[in-house]
Amino acid sequence: MATILPSVNDVRVEALQNFTEEFGENANICVCAPGRVNLIGEHTDYNDGFVLPMALPMVTVIAGKANQSSICKIVSLSDAVGTRNLVEFDISNRRALKPGEPKWANYVKGCVAKFSYDGLVPGFNAVILSTVPVGAGLSSSAALEVATYTFLEAMTGFVSERLEDKALVCQSVEHQFAGVPCGIMDQFISVMGKEGHALLLDCRDLATKQIPMEHLDDNLFLIINSNAPHKLSSSAYCERRDSCFEAAKLLNKKSLRDATLEDLEVLKTRHCPQITIKRARHVITEIQRTLEATAALESGNLLKFGTLMNESHDSLREDYEVSSQELDTLVSAAREVDGVVGSRLTGAGFGGCTVTLLRKDAVETAIKHIKKTYKGNATFYIAKPTNGARQLEIK
Ligand code: ADP
Ligand code: MG
Repeated sequence: MATILPSVNDVRVEALQNFTEEFGENANICVCAPGRVNLIGEHTDYNDGFVLPMALPMVTVIAGKANQSSICKIVSLSDAVGTRNLVEFDISNRRALKPGEPKWANYVKGCVAKFSYDGLVPGFNAVILSTVPVGAGLSSSAALEVATYTFLEAMTGFVSERLEDKALVCQSVEHQFAGVPCGIMDQFISVMGKEGHALLLDCRDLATKQIPMEHLDDNLFLIINSNAPHKLSSSAYCERRDSCFEAAKLLNKKSLRDATLEDLEVLKTRHCPQITIKRARHVITEIQRTLEATAALESGNLLKFGTLMNESHDSLREDYEVSSQELDTLVSAAREVDGVVGSRLTGAGFGGCTVTLLRKDAVETAIKHIKKTYKGNATFYIAKPTNGARQLEIK
């Protein structure tokens, strides 16, 4: 069976109750922001390419209230952050807002420090409750940043005029407060997700397009968490990124977004290392696949979409070399099941999750088959595209 996720409403109610127990009064603000899954377009973001994520029914909820002081008291109810789950800092002291311990609080402090309407944030009490698995590649970090920022907007009444700006501030928090040089996809989709839609994002000019998924009909996306930590070591990530930049430079192009398959032949004549050519081939073909997959989704050609998902995985495994034994097993087991249209790893790789498009009536068989084949302890989620960050009722 797939994991039954508590509804956003259930998480909301529980967060509000926890706030009352923790602080002895009722919260007057409640917000949520979703995690995400990328359907196709992997390692294309830092090459000015396209990505196609959708927002998940897994959310991070924050319930809270201003407390008429300059002190912020924030409790995370996530097991993943261990026992040091209460942080307290003085908002009027800029030094207290610097990154420090515990690490998880840096995402929150960063949002407070970078809130665009600086000086307007009062002290507050808050409880954080999330159903986004932490560290699984479904972007619990962006969900936390975007939820925090949405909470600050709700508390102060100062709401970002442009959703893009809100996403960009949250991304800068991840860069500067968590030290993670992430792309822009996670924050964009957590802010802009729309029920029933995927989001095509052009990482070059940040243009977005909502892509309706009404053609899915009797099909759905299944996310499988390998529960193997997604440790794309920063050196492996940087190596690949540098290879892409090197290839673009050899071609005299701004980025691999501007390169074509013919350019791979050009690279060969310019003494480009074979491994760099492979990395470039993944990026060039993946950018193309993402556009083709978007068109396939729009026209209801799911078979084509599934084939592109499969090709994406194979390219990530063979050319970009960021898959793992666990992810390959999950993907190949899924593909053995009748009714599976396509399957691939999602996220940066080396662990984390896979995403599979399949017929609804094949879900139970698929889960059974994959559980039998996979040695580890996988978790299964049915993923419906949902809305981005929003304020929730407090009653
Ligand atoms: P991912 O975004 O794929 O889940 P990351 O390593 O980018 O993985 O982010 C995980 C980190 O984000 C956690 O280690 C923790 O610091 C922080 N985090 C995410 N969700 C929560 C939460 N609900 N409470 C506290 N910290 C959280
Ligand atoms: Mg993250």
